[in-house]
Amino acid sequence: MVVEHTNGLVPTLRAALGSRLRVDEPLARHTSMRVGGPADVLAMPESAAELAKILAGAAGSGVRVTLLGGGSNVLVGDGGIRGVVVKLGRGFSTIDWSDGPAGPRVRAGAAVQLGKLARAAVTRGLAGLEYAEGIPGTVGGALFMNAGAYGGDLSGVVDAVEGAMPDGECVELRGPALRFRYRRAEVPRGFVVTAVVFALTREDAGAVRVRMNEARRRRLAGQPQGNPSAGSIFKNPGGDFAGRLIEGAGLKGARAGRARISDRHANFIVNEGGARAADVKALMDVAQREVWERSGVWLEPEVQLVGSW
Ligand SMILES: Cc1cc2nc3c(=O)[nH]c(=O)nc-3n(C[C@H](O)[C@H](O)[C@H](O)COP(=O)(O)OP(=O)(O)OC[C@H]3O[C@@H](n4cnc5c(N)ncnc54)[C@H](O)[C@@H]3O)c2cc1C
Repeated sequence: MVVEHTNGLVPTLRAALGSRLRVDEPLARHTSMRVGGPADVLAMPESAAELAKILAGAAGSGVRVTLLGGGSNVLVGDGGIRGVVVKLGRGFSTIDWSDGPAGPRVRAGAAVQLGKLARAAVTRGLAGLEYAEGIPGTVGGALFMNAGAYGGDLSGVVDAVEGAMPDGECVELRGPALRFRYRRAEVPRGFVVTAVVFALTREDAGAVRVRMNEARRRRLAGQPQGNPSAGSIFKNPGGDFAGRLIEGAGLKGARAGRARISDRHANFIVNEGGARAADVKALMDVAQREVWERSGVWLEPEVQLVGSW
C-alpha cells in the first residue's frame, strides 16, 4: 500500500534521509491529542536542501505532501495520512537575534518551539510575543495558524516569512504578499514555512515579564491540564465564544469513547487515554449540531482535520 501511495519515492528519500525517513509511522506519536493512524511516509529533513529534494521528488511523482509541526492543532484520522508527511527537523531550529535601524528582529527556524522563543524574547526585554508563552507547537505551525491568545496574534509581529514552494523553490514573503486572517495565514497553497522574522519592540524587561506571567496565569486558570488535547477545537464565532456556546448546549463532560468535552473549558476535547480520532470527531459533530439547534451558530473547526477518516 505504502509503495502504491508513494510512487516508488521511498528508496530515493531513504538514500537522502536514512533513519529520518520512517514508513508507516503512527502519527498519534506526533500529535498532542495522541490520536491518528499512520503516515505512509514520515520525512524529517534537517536542511533546506533535503526539504527541496523531498518536495521536488513528491511533486515529480504526484505524491501528496502534508506538513506537520508540533502536531498541536491537527486531528489526524484513524486511517492515517497517504503520501509523505514532512516534519522539519532540528536543522530548522536556529534563533538569530539582531538589532538595526528598523528595531529589534529575531529570525526563528520553523521547528523552534514558539513558547521557547517567547520566553527568550522576554528575557531580552523584547515585547510582542509574551502572549505566546504556553501555546504549544512550532514557529512554522504558529505562522500557518496565525496563533494567538489574549488579544495578540502572530500577524502583529511578523516581518517576513521564508519558505519553499511545492516544487522546492525558496521564496520570501513580506509586505503585501503576507496576509493574515483569524487563525490563518494566507500563504500560497503547499507553501512550507522554513523560518519567520519577527519585529519586536524594546521595553522594560520587568513589564514584559509581568504580561507574560499574566497570560500564563490565565491559561492555567482557564484550560484543562494533564490530558492530551488539541487546544481550542472550534474558532470563536464573531462576538461570541465557542466554549460558552458549547457549555450553554449542556455538553460539558459529554463523552464519546475515550474522548470527553472538558469540564474545565467546553471548547477543549480531551483524550482520557486510548481515544480514537473518530471519538473526537463524534463529539465535534454533536457540538456543532447542538449549538446550531440551540443558538443558530455553526461552529467552524479551528483544529485542522487531516488524513483518512
Ligand atoms: C493545550 C493547548 C493550548 C493551545 N492554545 C492555543 C492558543 O492559546 N492559541 C492558539 O492560537 N493556538 C493554541 N493551540 C493550538 C496550537 O498550539 C497552535 O495552533 C500552534 O501554533 C500549532 O503549531 P504546531 O507546530 O503544533 O502546528 P501543527 O498542529 O503541526 O499544524 C497546524 C497547521 O499548520 C501547518 N503547518 C505546520 N508546520 C508548517 C510549516 N512549517 N509550513 C507550513 N505549514 C505548516 C500544518 O499542516 C497544519 O495545517 C493550543 C493547543 C494546545 C494543545
